[in-house]
Amino acid sequence: MKEHPYKKSGLTVSQQDYHIARKRMVEVHLRGGGVRDERVLAAMGKVPRHLFVEEALREQAYGDYPLNIGEGQTISQPLMVAIMTEALQLAAGEKVLEVGTGSGYQTAILCELASEVYSIERIATLSHRARRILYDCGYIRFQLRIGDGSRGWPEAAPFDAIIVTAAGPALPPVLLKQLAEGGRLVMPIGTEDAQELRRVRRQQGKFPEETLGACRFVKLIGEYGWKGE
Ligand code: SAM
Repeated sequence: MKEHPYKKSGLTVSQQDYHIARKRMVEVHLRGGGVRDERVLAAMGKVPRHLFVEEALREQAYGDYPLNIGEGQTISQPLMVAIMTEALQLAAGEKVLEVGTGSGYQTAILCELASEVYSIERIATLSHRARRILYDCGYIRFQLRIGDGSRGWPEAAPFDAIIVTAAGPALPPVLLKQLAEGGRLVMPIGTEDAQELRRVRRQQGKFPEETLGACRFVKLIGEYGWKGE
């Protein structure tokens, strides 16, 4: 990877540089990658992704690739975050569940687009760090839980949208049950090495599915995912 020009000259990377890098990410990687929903593009142009990764990785935060967030987990590639968010078709006023809080970055994007955001993470240290960063960024309309998100959040259901940011072998039936009528679930399904992104919609007792393309995610570990390590 190329060294950041400011680093080379001995100057520190300023907020303005991050702002420019973020705008470039939106235009080159997201719009250039086929994302068309202006609300999603605006949200991703606003949320400071560099604050959701550790300091040593901040200068790489606006490249189009996943980055390590510790505990063997990753913050997803920006284009994949945008594609999944667009696929949720969120409207203002809606309630959304995220499974796999990770860094909290996707949670922040959801806070920009929905009214109520619930997010579950199985690794406590990640959830605690995500909460701190989300508050530091000024987000308050979210609820985090530590546990097995493959079971969903039944007490808060039904959800207008559910996004699963880890890959499972099959669609968890309990998550489908927690969708509101007309609700959308977006999730990577497949083997550990090769997955496809699926969108399912709840429609009058039926759950029609669409395939949105190939993807590669870390494993969903839990009752309705892969069994524990
Ligand atoms: N959305 C995250 C972000 O913006 O940083 C990226 C998430 S990372 C690709 C997937 C996350 O799912 C990991 O943090 C992992 O610990 C979590 N995970 C895996 N299985 C889970 C489960 N059953 N319940 C909740 N979280 C789970």
